[in-house]
Amino acid sequence: MSRRSADVVIAGAGIAGVATAYFLAVRSGVARVVLCDPLPPLTLTSDKSTECYRNLWPNQPMVRLVNRSIDLLEELAGESGNAFGMNRRGYLYATASPERLAALQAGAERAAEFGSGPMRVHRGEAGDPPYSPAAADEWEAAPTGTDLITDQALLQRQFPGISEKTVGALHVRRAGFLSAQQLGAYLLDRARTAGVTLLPRRVVAVRTAGKVTGVTLDDATAIDCGAFVDAAGPMLAPVAGLLGESLPVHSEVHLKVGFRDTLGVFPRDAGLLIWHDPQRLDWSMEEREHLAAADRHDLLGEMPSACHGRPEGGTGSPWVLALWEYHRQVLEPVWPLPVDPLYGEVVIRGLAAMFPAMARYLDHMPQQVVDGGYYTKTVENRPLAGPLQTAGAFVIGALSGFGIMAACGLAELGAAHVTGDPLPEHAAAFTLARYDDPAYQRELATLTETGQI
Ligand SMILES: Cc1cc2nc3c(=O)[nH]c(=O)nc-3n(C[C@H](O)[C@H](O)[C@H](O)COP(=O)(O)OP(=O)(O)OC[C@H]3O[C@@H](n4cnc5c(N)ncnc54)[C@H](O)[C@@H]3O)c2cc1C
Repeated sequence: MSRRSADVVIAGAGIAGVATAYFLAVRSGVARVVLCDPLPPLTLTSDKSTECYRNLWPNQPMVRLVNRSIDLLEELAGESGNAFGMNRRGYLYATASPERLAALQAGAERAAEFGSGPMRVHRGEAGDPPYSPAAADEWEAAPTGTDLITDQALLQRQFPGISEKTVGALHVRRAGFLSAQQLGAYLLDRARTAGVTLLPRRVVAVRTAGKVTGVTLDDATAIDCGAFVDAAGPMLAPVAGLLGESLPVHSEVHLKVGFRDTLGVFPRDAGLLIWHDPQRLDWSMEEREHLAAADRHDLLGEMPSACHGRPEGGTGSPWVLALWEYHRQVLEPVWPLPVDPLYGEVVIRGLAAMFPAMARYLDHMPQQVVDGGYYTKTVENRPLAGPLQTAGAFVIGALSGFGIMAACGLAELGAAHVTGDPLPEHAAAFTLARYDDPAYQRELATLTETGQI
């Protein structure tokens, strides 16, 4: 058995653990940080994401957290010559329902009060504020806040091919996408240069004597340390279990499909485009019979809202990434991931609600690649960043479907908890201790919106 020592040991080199290592070593000057993961960094969930970000959230703590995280992403993009290809093309929530448009407007007005930026309305009338189209590759000049668009000519000009049934859309402007792999690689590279050690090992035990005293790895190496961070993604709860603690998290399967849009239906310079309405898929009579015979009634009735996608790759790329979680299956994480064999086709059919020309693929589906991972999340879909109950133990996790956009903000909070540095006002909203507050428990009982797409 070998023995070594460290100031902080982190379990998990997904985006949460890598960003935490970066904030501890590079920004807080912690000298001896050890990052452990039996898998190569960023290869379990953090390379399966759609890599998008947005500052529109239905509550103030999430708006503040993600705004701060985007500030940090912009700072990192600036200092690195945009090493991770961050853009600010926005998110577009489109709807054919006047009621759902009114709800989008109300959500944007509320988010504006929380700090996501002002809402501008574009009706196609004299006196409308100017609409500033999104640049494909830059973020610096883009406006913040949201644009609510009911001007049909403007919608068709900016999002060519969008369904004529669209009564309006909300364009979220502090939003876009980036390369999560390259962001993670940049953070890891900076962290290692600042002295972080990466060990290809699983943490199998955490030793305590009233507080954390060390960890044991799967090759029997013992590392003495005063602080331990659980950043184990879908294994967050079992790793907290090494300390005899439990965490209020569960995991949902989320798939995504990449497909070659060889007919050029999806606008290539768009951001993330979301069809905000529930819908029924347009199966032929024969297909309906086949699906019913195969017991796929889940695909025959009303399907949920939020079929969404974005273009992937630079000039000349035909790839589109698209998602639609019509099952929301909660599972104890297992691999390989359970995959619906019809997933790719169902999503492409679903996108036809927003871009009717997608229906041209129905006779001959394009080449597809399906992958995905788990959204490990709390009941109210807010992450955890702060102390566990054991002194010296911390958690950064439950990053759900927002881990790429929120990682820097959460890692900054996590590092401050570890070092005892001052915390911002929104930090308390992400600690485990929030569940001990009766007022928060009452708030949870009436919660209807979690912000998940
Ligand atoms: C289909 C899909 C689309 C998504 N789209 C977006 C998006 O558009 N925008 C966005 O912001 N987010 C998105 N996400 C969410 C984002 O990908 C996750 O929130 C994020 O990757 C989670 O990061 P993590 O570091 O917590 O977990 P992971 O990346 O899973 O990393 C956890 C690591 O911990 C390691 N580990 C586990 N147990 C141990 C142990 N005992 N010892 C050491 N290491 C251990 C694992 O091997 C793993 O490498 C998406 C996710 C999915 C699945």
